[in-house]
Amino acid sequence: MTQHEATPSEQDLETLSRQLRRPVRDVVEIPARCRCGNPLVAATAPRLSNGIPFPTTYYLTHPTIVQAVSRLEAAGVMAEMTERLADDAQLAAGHRAAHEDYLERREQIRRRAGLDPVWEIDGVSAGGMPGRVKCLHVLVGHALAVGPGITPLGDETLERLAEEWTPQTCTCASAWDHDAEVPTEDLSRHVRRRS
Ligand SMILES: [Zn+2]
Repeated sequence: MTQHEATPSEQDLETLSRQLRRPVRDVVEIPARCRCGNPLVAATAPRLSNGIPFPTTYYLTHPTIVQAVSRLEAAGVMAEMTERLADDAQLAAGHRAAHEDYLERREQIRRRAGLDPVWEIDGVSAGGMPGRVKCLHVLVGHALAVGPGITPLGDETLERLAEEWTPQTCTCASAWDHDAEVPTEDLSRHVRRRS
């Protein structure tokens, strides 16, 4: 999954909008795909075209994985992982390194997208990194985008949902409505300016 081959096609953007049931915007790359080719993760520019800084670079879009991750979150996995970070120095170091990796790759994406530095989110990653676990979707999006060995808790989350999804799995046919009209009304919470 080299990133320069990752530029989204018009069809990718329509698929993302159907997966998420809202129009996507400012997606600059598709860093992870299903074995069938459909997007798993969208990479969003660190500053949206409406000017809002956007720290969550890797956004998990595939409904099968999103739902499996949501079940793990509902089962309390985030609190459990955050506790383990306090007790396990090696895990904590790995989670910190994942944070640094996230920031580095966001910088690379920013440069490829031709954007100026986004000072508002300097040093700020996502998902609770580096010290906590606040969103497993962020960790899994990162893990799928960069491959194994970078985010220990993202890799672990993927292992935990292996009964529902693995890289060998393709659930695309039933995971979203492929014939749905492409959403055009923007319902994204991210487009509203925070006041
Ligand atoms: Zn597929």
